[in-house]
Amino acid sequence: METVKRAWQGGPLRNFSTAPKANWSRHDEDRLFWGPYVCDHCQRSVNGIYEPKPGIGDGRKWLCSECRNALRPKEARPEGFTR
Ligand SMILES: [Zn+2]
Repeated sequence: METVKRAWQGGPLRNFSTAPKANWSRHDEDRLFWGPYVCDHCQRSVNGIYEPKPGIGDGRKWLCSECRNALRPKEARPEGFTR
């Protein structure tokens, strides 16, 4: 059985499975296999995850690199390419 839950309180979401899965690491304390992290924003399984710095996004969230870039305060965007 697979579930998604927080790896620890306030931590990132992560896939867990009771059955062995390739490249998922087994942890003795809960006898579960720990899989990829899940992004708080897009809810997708991702390789690696980031906790954005305070002030980015709304509160404490764990984001994939795509969402982190999307939620980052907008820089001067090259939208002057209109001619
Ligand atoms: Zn994401």
